[in-house]
Amino acid sequence: KYSGPSKDDVACGRKQHLSKGQYHFYEKPLMLVEAKGQYCYDEEGRRYLDAYSNVCHVGYCHEHIADAAAQQMRTIVTNTRYLHPSLGSYAKMLINKMPKDSNLSICFFVNSGSEANDLAMRLARVYTRQKYVFALEHAYHGTTGSCTGVSPSLSTGNIDKSNSTHPDYAYYGRDVKLLRVPNTFRGEHRSDDPDAVSKYLSDFDKRLTEIEGPQVKDAGMGCGLAAFIIETIQGVAGQVVYPEGYTQQLFDKVRKAGGLCISDEVQVGFGRVGSHFWAFEAEGVVPDIITMGKPIGNGHPLGCVVTTPEIAEAFEAAQYFNTFGGNPVSCAIGQAVLEVIESEDLQNNAKVLGEQLMHGLQRIKQKHPIIGDVRGRGLFVGVELVKDQSTLEPATHETKRLWEKMRDNGVLTGIGGPAKSVIRMKPPMCLTSADVDEIIRVMDMCLIEIAQE
Ligand code: PMP
Repeated sequence: KYSGPSKDDVACGRKQHLSKGQYHFYEKPLMLVEAKGQYCYDEEGRRYLDAYSNVCHVGYCHEHIADAAAQQMRTIVTNTRYLHPSLGSYAKMLINKMPKDSNLSICFFVNSGSEANDLAMRLARVYTRQKYVFALEHAYHGTTGSCTGVSPSLSTGNIDKSNSTHPDYAYYGRDVKLLRVPNTFRGEHRSDDPDAVSKYLSDFDKRLTEIEGPQVKDAGMGCGLAAFIIETIQGVAGQVVYPEGYTQQLFDKVRKAGGLCISDEVQVGFGRVGSHFWAFEAEGVVPDIITMGKPIGNGHPLGCVVTTPEIAEAFEAAQYFNTFGGNPVSCAIGQAVLEVIESEDLQNNAKVLGEQLMHGLQRIKQKHPIIGDVRGRGLFVGVELVKDQSTLEPATHETKRLWEKMRDNGVLTGIGGPAKSVIRMKPPMCLTSADVDEIIRVMDMCLIEIAQE
């Protein structure tokens, strides 16, 4: 039983010492004090099924991971400037997960997804000696300066609009160009348009004509394309699955223009999509750089950049040292996470339960006209709410109501999409079939209540 400070005291202390930008979820904040597997508990011992946390990927407080961490903490914590066996053995395990015919064999260990993306873009700029990075509208890639520039979801969702909420957003985005999201549910070109892929891809050609070109120099860099950074399913933007062929053709265009392809697997990697270990594999592409975060450490701050020896070599003239990245505790944890994914067959669980979840949601979509779209892969699923099935006007208010109500009924989800009209689900992968039934039952019940309001 929880015996710490009261929830009100905790909320008060937080208000005093954290900024308003560091907001909390829900009108009435939720305090979680314990967790196990896919369940969290509040200070009164109330249980919540977590359908949202892709951080505790193999389940909260997993014994195998806690043991590995504790044992290493008691032995030695040092840095990568000394030899330690765990660094090499963990890197090898991770590289074993790369596509077999790829040359992706070099790891840079870091401490977060943002740091991984920041380093990936830096590697691409150094390797190509070009400065521009392209990304998708509504994307989110992290909190560092360079990541802010490729995270238009931090502003209005579109870099061209002036009413950005972050005063430094345009500054960091000055070497960035954005393309429309190939959203065939509500974008300009929809699933009934057979040419949707090429229409969306024409943005790439347009953006390329807008940049000055490799021959023009800016601070020692050419003004050509260094990289495209992309999640192969867009997360914060509302679990947007791109039309077939889009990612492949995009990667071809990027490479033809001399750029590198960076796949941000921070949300979608480590078996979450069920059919494959990495989400990019489901699109039939092999990136030049892969970035990892969140699930890689199951809650421990760990991230990684994986690339080819050729790209990594471009960095060798300079030093790269990261005090905590790749320390023996992080490596022990990362290794334990991979072991659990394997021993508990969690990728397959994501496949089987992802199908059950999608079917269940499709079923309740039939009776709730407010559900406009159900989409995703594996245990990475979005439910988009609309006020009207023909205009697709986003049901922003109702989405918030559903999110709050599901919490009141013991199920945690997330909200995403530029209009905040998508309920996002990416639960710990140790979910059970009964949990899936509960998510669907609770969503169905809450939608009935919302319709009556
Ligand atoms: N990339 C994506 C796709 C993310 O969702 C996030 C975190 N939400 C990040 C990068 C940044 O990761 P972190 O918060 O660990 O820095």
